[in-house]
Amino acid sequence: LNYVINGEHQQMLKKLSDTDFLTGWLNRKALEPCALSCRETAQRTGHTFGIIIFDVDHFKAINDKWGHHAGDVALQQITSRAKDIVRDEDNCFRIGGEEFLIILTRCNAEQLHRVSERLRQTVASRPVMMNDKPMNITISIGSALSRHDDLGWQALFDRADKALYQSKAEGRNTVSISEPEHTAEVWQ
Ligand code: GH3
Ligand code: MG
Ligand code: MG
Repeated sequence: LNYVINGEHQQMLKKLSDTDFLTGWLNRKALEPCALSCRETAQRTGHTFGIIIFDVDHFKAINDKWGHHAGDVALQQITSRAKDIVRDEDNCFRIGGEEFLIILTRCNAEQLHRVSERLRQTVASRPVMMNDKPMNITISIGSALSRHDDLGWQALFDRADKALYQSKAEGRNTVSISEPEHTAEVWQ
């Protein structure tokens, strides 16, 4: 059996293999190429970009109380609300079971703070409804801004991940932003 695969098919297949079925967000495999390309653009244009990592709080307990299906619905709701508050050009990834990452292309410190806080609020302020019953769900967030002296995008990822860990340690439903060690020439 022969298939003719044209450019359009190829693009569609690539998109399918890069997409998480539950949420429609990109999967972990798609993250590195995207992050590298963002970094290249940032270096070329002199702009900074940001990443936001978030993790659903006490999700194991939510599954235990409401069931796995309700947990899935919660993940769909959370990602759908998150998508509504970022721009089309930002890239959204599911990097683990209940762990997500957003790359904010061309983003400064002020925008990173604002979007991170809106994201926390948009989840916490309204429960996810499950069979007419409210499930209260919160997320913890760690965010970081790219630096021109970052050796790779992994350094940025590590800063955001550390910030996320701090949000968990501080009691969850919290935003932590990794602060730069030296300012002036690094921040734009
Ligand atoms: P923490 O606040 O520290 O993040 O606690 P947690 O309970 O969220 O963290 P933990 O890592 O202990 O549990 C994550 C849970 O997420 C366990 C796993 O069963 C659940 N999970 C992972 N992927 C999915 C999924 O696709 N659907 C559902 N319903 N649950 C999932
Ligand atoms: Mg969790
Ligand atoms: Mg987790």
